[in-house]
Amino acid sequence: MKKIIVANWKMNPKTLREARKNFLHIKKTAEKLTKVQTVICPPFIFLEPISKETSRKCMLGAQDVFWKKEGAYTGEISPAQLYNLNVSHVILGHSERRRLGETDEIVRDKIKAAFEYRLNVILCIGESKRDEEGHYLAFLKNEIKKSLERIPKKQLARIIIAYEPIWAVGAEAKFADTPETLLEISIFIRKILSDTFSKKIAFQVPILYGGSVTEHNAKDFLKNGGVDGLLIGRASLDHHEFNKILKIAQRL
Ligand code: PEP
Repeated sequence: MKKIIVANWKMNPKTLREARKNFLHIKKTAEKLTKVQTVICPPFIFLEPISKETSRKCMLGAQDVFWKKEGAYTGEISPAQLYNLNVSHVILGHSERRRLGETDEIVRDKIKAAFEYRLNVILCIGESKRDEEGHYLAFLKNEIKKSLERIPKKQLARIIIAYEPIWAVGAEAKFADTPETLLEISIFIRKILSDTFSKKIAFQVPILYGGSVTEHNAKDFLKNGGVDGLLIGRASLDHHEFNKILKIAQRL
């Protein structure tokens, strides 16, 4: 399986000019890599102009989607609109959206809608605190089960799970997870998928890690964390650093 490296640009950059420039620099590197699938997720407004530049090795993702196809939903973007723009992936349930009130039920409705339009879903899960008693594991289990409840098994071929411990994500994070703990958690996630769906699904669903990934820790996470790729925020805004990470993934 190719390593999946996803860039989450969040609410950056400020102009289309910068967005296009960053995308094209990344695409130039991504095109040369045979073992890496690159997915860039810019803000909605840049999707249409950048969509003309996408390729099989450098795909386009959105950072969210609404659960209805069309209608009176001011400010929302539908999966049908994304599909018509060449968008192949969508991040759902990111902790920065959950912080704004998104629940597992909302995430599930969005997943269902995204699947109807053959979008690949990058489902983010992650605990806000890692307690010594291990309650966070029950939290993760619940998050996965609720978000994927009543989703037909055959549609799970389009799901990617991104484990992003909230305490490790974004500018306020003090440190990243460790590859050792990540390995335990990736095994735990596969066990939940196996118990809930099937062994086949447990091995087929790609698991990504996200949270303070840099060019310095990427190799260790990919090599020793039991994951199939990375979801990268801050380090994806600098194409030099992001391209270094893509090359690291290629060399593994
Ligand atoms: C993210 O936004 O998904 C993320 C992982 O951010 P960062 O890499 O900046 O911690």
